[in-house]
Amino acid sequence: MEDPSAIIRIKRLTKTYGRVRALDRVDLEIHRGEFLTIVGPNGAGKSTLLGVIAGLIRPTRGEIKLDGVDAIQDRDDGLARKIGVLSNRSYLYNDLTVFENLTFYATLYDLEGSEQTIRVLLDRVGMADQTDSLMKTLSRGMKQRIALARTMLHDPPILLLDEPYVGLDQDAVTMLQDFLSEKQRTILLVTH
Ligand code: ADP
Repeated sequence: MEDPSAIIRIKRLTKTYGRVRALDRVDLEIHRGEFLTIVGPNGAGKSTLLGVIAGLIRPTRGEIKLDGVDAIQDRDDGLARKIGVLSNRSYLYNDLTVFENLTFYATLYDLEGSEQTIRVLLDRVGMADQTDSLMKTLSRGMKQRIALARTMLHDPPILLLDEPYVGLDQDAVTMLQDFLSEKQRTILLVTH
């Protein structure tokens, strides 16, 4: 029987890269509001698992349902709007300003009133004074704060976090923890 309260449901998920089997028939159910941390050594397949759920990596076999939607066959913009990804890749463009980057994603997510949302978020991550700076002029720590703002921009009910604390300064760690505890989200965090 399928459990209808599972917001992430994965069955026999397999991903091979040539001869490397990064994921081997993974079954996983995460329920609404749950916070699951998966710990494993480097090379265990954690990033692959997150990438496949996020729609960034195509699985070899298996099923993924996100909030009842087949995330492999029927992946659409609606699904992207439900997911926030934070990983060591920022998905931000160096030659755009901070504001332009976030506006780009707001457009992608079809967000209304995005300018106000962006300003509130930038204030929250302590980057309001960098709104018009080019991404490439920012320090690594600043970029991570902007990446955190990008992750939270569309207020996603599902968060996929790949080693989210690596490289964050203490203030940014506190900011991330505030986001994680402010409301009920479904969170999958992987770390080694
Ligand atoms: P983790 O995040 O736990 O460190 P990964 O998902 O990054 O693990 O990697 C799992 C396995 O898949 C490793 O053996 C890794 O070398 C391999 N792998 C990951 N990405 C690729 C890729 N793009 N091409 C080939 N092999 C890959």
